[in-house]
Amino acid sequence: MGQFKPFSGSPRSIVGMPDQGEWIARDARVVWHGFTQMAAYPNNSPVIVDRAEGREVIDVDGNRYLDAISSLWVTTLGHRVPELDAAARDQIDRVAHSTLLGNGNRVVIEFAEALAQLVPVENPHFLFASDGAAAIEQALKIAFQYWTNIGVEGRNTYLAFGGAYHGDTIGSLSIGAGGFGTDIFDPLRFAVLRAPGFDTPNAIDLAIEMIVENAASLAAVVIEPLVQGAAGMEMLPAGEFAKLGVACRENDVLLICDEVATGFGRTGTLFASEQCGLTPDLLVIGKGITGGYLAMAATVANERVYSAFLGDDLGPRTFYHGHSYSGNALAAAVALRHLELISEWGVLANVNERSLQLRALLNEKIAARPEVKAIRLQGLMCGVELAPPLEGLRWGRRVCASAVAQGVLLRPLGDVIVLMPMLTTTADEVIRIVDVLDLAIAEGTR
Ligand SMILES: *Cc1c(COP(=O)(O)O)cnc(C)c1O
Repeated sequence: MGQFKPFSGSPRSIVGMPDQGEWIARDARVVWHGFTQMAAYPNNSPVIVDRAEGREVIDVDGNRYLDAISSLWVTTLGHRVPELDAAARDQIDRVAHSTLLGNGNRVVIEFAEALAQLVPVENPHFLFASDGAAAIEQALKIAFQYWTNIGVEGRNTYLAFGGAYHGDTIGSLSIGAGGFGTDIFDPLRFAVLRAPGFDTPNAIDLAIEMIVENAASLAAVVIEPLVQGAAGMEMLPAGEFAKLGVACRENDVLLICDEVATGFGRTGTLFASEQCGLTPDLLVIGKGITGGYLAMAATVANERVYSAFLGDDLGPRTFYHGHSYSGNALAAAVALRHLELISEWGVLANVNERSLQLRALLNEKIAARPEVKAIRLQGLMCGVELAPPLEGLRWGRRVCASAVAQGVLLRPLGDVIVLMPMLTTTADEVIRIVDVLDLAIAEGTR
């Protein structure tokens, strides 16, 4: 018997008797899964996780899967990292949560101080939230109120990019490019200026033209620096981005960098903005912030933005916004230890080494396959785009199902196979991922 006790009242299965099927049925009866058609869910062989070790998750039947999507891009160092487990346990003996609305918490201060040394934001101030979308929402509202606070009128729209994904709340959906079946909400989305996506090579130049023309109505420009994750790992060279920052500054428009996916080492630097030469007015972080342990996100404001909100107590310059679990102490304790481990373990060096290895292996084994249209890789964010001859073949789904059956957990974005190994992944694991992908493409596209 493992450390995980069965849910009270449910009989533990007899050792050796598979019970995944029963768990799937119970799951489908009461849990509504995000981005998932529940009528099809039980037949898509979902993995029901019981526990995890390192970079593997283990299902209720004891089968192991290499987690090659980092639990949807959040897990950085691994599952059940002893140091992170200890940080959570130590904090739980102090306090799990205390509100940041009007009061402070010691470990949150320590974490914010440590992160302040590392974010590409000038004199940063952290407004915490629980999810990326909520932190994006905060950034949009802060950018909007900033102009009101400094007495400038008419700055009431945003420039965002084609292919952009910033989360699922109405505000973040509005600056996102749509798709993913979210078109039904179009009547609720507010209008924004839309630059081309990163699949357009001169997207940044076109965006800059739009900034120059529309500066007087723009509250902010919102961009995913370097990699548009959910668009299918669309990327532009790092050198393309710096001029966007210059254009924002010269035209007096705020710059919001959404690093929810790219932050905390995923692209080979701690933040992608560093490679891009961007120092945003507002930086949005989430996903990897706690190493994948707990729900935490943050909106990071520079001095210019932050100081515009200073004024009289209870006065109109105040930012009247705040989430219940903002700055959760347990999450902050894990996030603080996580930051230390990234540097103590030389994690970024591993990301860059494994990235080179992954590129070489994909070029050798996958790139020439006729079923593959393109391979895009930056750090350990990778998209292998398939080229189905017809619509509706669900190649992405079928290739990933084959990989899962071989013990490597993958999840596609349409017909783009996402490879997002953890930042501590080993050379052997990279070899295994590519070997399994090779077989899975053969099987899933048959
Ligand atoms: C995942 C993601 C979000 C939304 O974060 P959630 O925590 O899922 O709300 C926002 N922006 C980007 C770039 C993301 O990848």
